[in-house]
Amino acid sequence: MRSGKKIGIMGGTFNPIHNGHLQLAMAAQDQVSLDQILFMPSGNSYMKRNVLETQKRVDMVALAIARYPNFELSLVEAQKSGNTYTCETLKSLTTSNPDVQYYFIIGADILFQIEQWRNPEQIYQLAVLVCAVRDDYDFDAIQKKGNLLKASGADIVYLNMPKSDISSTDIRAKVKSSLPISKLVPSEVAHYIEQEHLYYEED
Ligand code: ATP
Ligand code: MG
Repeated sequence: MRSGKKIGIMGGTFNPIHNGHLQLAMAAQDQVSLDQILFMPSGNSYMKRNVLETQKRVDMVALAIARYPNFELSLVEAQKSGNTYTCETLKSLTTSNPDVQYYFIIGADILFQIEQWRNPEQIYQLAVLVCAVRDDYDFDAIQKKGNLLKASGADIVYLNMPKSDISSTDIRAKVKSSLPISKLVPSEVAHYIEQEHLYYEED
């Protein structure tokens, strides 16, 4: 374990950022005593198609986190051209900041995907996973999966927080159907979506 600051990383497509992301980050900050959380929107994702342009996703993240002093926007992945890989991002962060202990904050869906990512064992070496429950996954299944990852070297902390069923996919569908999203995203993000006419033509 490194001796310096404890920094959380919230990676995501953030298409758009929503209250579930913020709740996750706040729970991680409180329960893991993180000094800072970096919100790191993806650039061009090789995993998702038809994603809104990076600048607009970045703008929404900036609006959503402005009021939280320990949350910061990181453009490390957004500014990279081509695919970005978490293992490489963590490698360059830990090389530049060798004293920092990084915590990679994820919802349960990612716990079930991370083995398919590039070089997962390097991810486990460079960051502690901080995992939250999420909609379809019960805690037993999560722990079982977690134990398998631990056998491959992962260090995992589970967050104790209420399940939130908010997703960006659902928000995009709601906007397209002209349903309200004001309880799902910060008001600044709702305004931005309206102003920029985002998601009305999602297919
Ligand atoms: P999409 O529906 O487009 O996949 P999303 O809501 O899953 O979007 P992402 O940007 O893909 O949002 O997620 C970024 C991170 O936040 C992931 O680790 C994901 O598991 C986590 N996350 C998102 N929403 C929630 C939620 N409601 N509860 C717990 N974790 C969440
Ligand atoms: Mg997702």
